[in-house]
Amino acid sequence: MSDFVESAKNFVNSAVGRASWEAQKQMRVRSKQSEIDKLQEQRTQLLNELAQSAIQLYQQGRLTDPGLSRFCASIMELDHDVSDRNAQLQEIKKENYPAEQFAPTPTSSYAPPPVTPYAQPAQPGMPPTGAAPQQGVRCPNCGNELRPGALYCRSCGAKLR
Ligand SMILES: [Zn+2]
Repeated sequence: MSDFVESAKNFVNSAVGRASWEAQKQMRVRSKQSEIDKLQEQRTQLLNELAQSAIQLYQQGRLTDPGLSRFCASIMELDHDVSDRNAQLQEIKKENYPAEQFAPTPTSSYAPPPVTPYAQPAQPGMPPTGAAPQQGVRCPNCGNELRPGALYCRSCGAKLR
């Protein structure tokens, strides 16, 4: 009988020990994960700053690496397209329901808005990018004609590399 009591005590003790060990392990996992998250956050910030510096060099015509120049051109193009679309978004938000008009306007003849070519910044003494010319290349997703060296489609946003 005393053997049974003893082994039951041991069982309870080891169960408590295991539960607190598991709880501690969870805590260690969470604290390590938050360390990793903070480091990743810092990394993202530094990458952003690196990109800003590269874009600045590119705008000053001091970025000599064609691959980096291509990235900078695309990021600037994206920024330009985002602000374009933001303007379009504001226009859409300002639209009112045409209450006087009972017949709905046809929507079947929708055509995407024309894409205005992005003006390259002045590049003193160097070509804008070293990318090979891709004359007549079209987006595999929407068929829109692509700018040489494009990293994404300006019509549908498909990534091209
Ligand atoms: Zn496309």
